[in-house]
Amino acid sequence: MRYKPPVTAPDVTGLTMADLEGLLSSRRRAIEAAKWIYGKRPWSLELPPAIPGVNGEAWGRVRASCTVPEVQVTDRTIATDGTTKFLIEMPGGSVETVLIPARDRSTVCVSSQIGCTRSCRFCATATLGFTRNLRAGEIVAQYLVARAHCVERPDLSPATNVVFMGMGEPLDNLDEVLTAVEILTQTPAPQLGNAQVTVSTSGIVPGMRRFLTESKASLALSLNGSTDDQRTRVMPHNKTWPIAELVAVLREHPKRTHFIEYVMFDGVNDSDEDAARVAALLDGLNARLNLIPHNPITSPIALQSSSAERIEAFHRVVHAAGLRTMIRWPKGSDVAAACGQLARIRTKT
Ligand code: SF4
Repeated sequence: MRYKPPVTAPDVTGLTMADLEGLLSSRRRAIEAAKWIYGKRPWSLELPPAIPGVNGEAWGRVRASCTVPEVQVTDRTIATDGTTKFLIEMPGGSVETVLIPARDRSTVCVSSQIGCTRSCRFCATATLGFTRNLRAGEIVAQYLVARAHCVERPDLSPATNVVFMGMGEPLDNLDEVLTAVEILTQTPAPQLGNAQVTVSTSGIVPGMRRFLTESKASLALSLNGSTDDQRTRVMPHNKTWPIAELVAVLREHPKRTHFIEYVMFDGVNDSDEDAARVAALLDGLNARLNLIPHNPITSPIALQSSSAERIEAFHRVVHAAGLRTMIRWPKGSDVAAACGQLARIRTKT
């Protein structure tokens, strides 16, 4: 039977500026409270009796009506390149959050659901089934946990970017994801830029339409095939929302930059003809294509990654067609930092 979380008070990490202003009856207090709640410090599970700059009685209302989300880091694995994977326990199960450091910034990959209802053939999360949607406060808490790790490790660049590419299909939990994006980008804290937050979808047309209308953050579409036959083979819900419909939604927003992810599977979607079809599909769109070698360890069925030579050949074709394209060579492979992978390993042991 599906896990039903108990009805609880709102998460303190799920409060928008408007929520804080309502609870504290003052914009000034809300600003000070946001600076404290979303401030850089070690992750803590307690709300103190007082915080700087906020009247004690007003803060007492926040303490009385909100809880700190029950998130507990039960495992932390650090790869040689600094990529850090957190296994985070929450009511109903565990999710994974990954910190990916780069020279000038670190990116936090957050989960939006415990499990997933979609059945992408290359994804270990799909084999876990679906437990529940995460609340906005639980999504924001993942960012705060990973950012606290960066604060402890001065050799890592600050965590200034967030991608919703962990467990779950974010657009199947859109209300909570939109609230989490609003909080992550709000002033005065955490104050990430809209361009620093990217929500990745496996292609849910109604959710894409709503997200592109209601949010200024970036959307990334996981395309993974140049024909419907190919795409349906690895992402069965392509039968409901085929490629032409997905691209049509993107074309409704010609001024936005659209990120397209293309996981490359050996002999499935990686020929020069596929590259030419992808270039034609995206022609005229303000698109950025990311080519991603498949990580076969995550795959519940026998799908292999395209070779480096094939990926580079594909890149040459789309690049020559004028598409802005990057190859995303994997990071953190020694800690299995890909979608659903740690959860799968844990489930099996
Ligand atoms: S790739 Fe994403 S949408 Fe597809 S099953 Fe995995 S978590 Fe769900």
